[in-house]
Amino acid sequence: MDLMEKITSLAKRRGFVYPGSELYSGLGGTWDYGPLGVEMKNNIKKAWWKATVQERSEVAGLDSAIILSPKVWEASGHVSQFTDPMVDCKKCKKRYRADHLIEEIEKKKLPSRDEEVVEEHALAAHPEVVKDLNEKLRGVKCPNCGGDLTSVRQFNLMFKTYVGPVEDASSLAYLRPETAQGIFINFSNVLASSRQKIPFGIAQIGKAFRNEVTPGNFLFRSREFEQMELEFFVKPGSDKEWFNYWRKVRFDWFARHGIRQENLRLRDHEKDELSHYAKAATDVEYNFPFGGFKELEGIANRGDFDLGQHGQFSGRDLSYFDEQTKEKFVPYVIEPSVGVDRAFLAFFVDAYREEKAPAANKEEGETRVFLALDPKIAPVKLAILPLVKDEELIKVAKDLYQRYQSIWFVAYDEVASIGRRYRRQDEIGTPYCLTVDFETLKDNAVTLRDRDQMTQDRIKIEELDNYLMTKIC
Ligand code: ATP
Repeated sequence: MDLMEKITSLAKRRGFVYPGSELYSGLGGTWDYGPLGVEMKNNIKKAWWKATVQERSEVAGLDSAIILSPKVWEASGHVSQFTDPMVDCKKCKKRYRADHLIEEIEKKKLPSRDEEVVEEHALAAHPEVVKDLNEKLRGVKCPNCGGDLTSVRQFNLMFKTYVGPVEDASSLAYLRPETAQGIFINFSNVLASSRQKIPFGIAQIGKAFRNEVTPGNFLFRSREFEQMELEFFVKPGSDKEWFNYWRKVRFDWFARHGIRQENLRLRDHEKDELSHYAKAATDVEYNFPFGGFKELEGIANRGDFDLGQHGQFSGRDLSYFDEQTKEKFVPYVIEPSVGVDRAFLAFFVDAYREEKAPAANKEEGETRVFLALDPKIAPVKLAILPLVKDEELIKVAKDLYQRYQSIWFVAYDEVASIGRRYRRQDEIGTPYCLTVDFETLKDNAVTLRDRDQMTQDRIKIEELDNYLMTKIC
């Protein structure tokens, strides 16, 4: 089994992530988060919100609607530009992203569904791009069945729906393909209802939908996902400085939450990669097991494009008046934008460890599998285990369980040998196991086992609160 197979199998078996609509043979590009997955995902969102909103007086939170006025997507350019070029096989009907197919051909390797080359959406849907792709694909046959391919068409990635009972052009609407636009259209509202002054930010976490031509690589690219986005509004001229600031802050956030630095890097976009409105862009990349470093988070200096466009399309003045300098300007915006699910995948993959148990420690058997997750991200913070099924031990353990349940998501387990129970917790990344044994009844202390080191410390019950708070929070 390769690493990704092990990861997806563990994720399903232990209730982190299941394939979407599996009961009905699945629905491509969708995933369901199980009991542990939802905890871990919430922890990622909480950690981001804490660092981005809670700990910063200059950032305010927002939760905008998923369905926005279709005018929003005209102003943002998504209706005309948010497209991927695709070709279909006339015979087997298989669909390809034209640019990916060309890349694969150039690499002299034909694509399989999941070995997708990842790159920016072709936001610039210029006719020359399509012409060029058509030329490159002339004479190319379907890698799947050898059939003829259609010519290249631009495929808009936004999911369409209708608002109200009538399904016609006047009721057409879209599920948002990013959360950012909900922020831009509320710029004036937040400014008026909070006491923010530039520089300040608005942050949002929420679902986004993209009808990706080729979803794949587990959670990396799906059709329904969540984003954590910050739009940080600054005075033009100070944008470069703020861009550099957020590049560093966001890189550090991943490292601070347990992702190994050697698997992270910052990659600046070349001039020809930039969207027409972006002044600069950098990706925080993670070294994924499929094909190496790929975008985990994008940080862009978007200039005044967004507020400028919405100002123009809505006819409202979205400029900012600086009381101190008496200057009026349309703020520039720095946008760090990351997918929750893609971050989940990076945390999961990076934490996955297989380790031969030391000879002195027979409890684990041959190979120990564990998730070295940061305690803040781990779904279960603490497992409480009576050493054996003894009434008195169970009573103490259940009291402790109840106590810590009110603080964290904790587990209680009395089934199977203690070694097996440790192993079960290791596999889901529980940082600490607390064992109540017969000594506990005499000395009022418990054994605390550390997941990564497998060390066991004896701690007095009355000192547990302090001890655990420093380790877990
Ligand atoms: P990609 O080039 O990988 O398609 P993008 O540049 O189009 O990504 P953005 O529009 O910058 O992505 O979105 C910001 C973030 O949202 C990405 O860095 C990624 O973490 C996440 N994201 C984007 N598309 C998807 C998707 N289809 N599935 C999961 N996460 C996604």
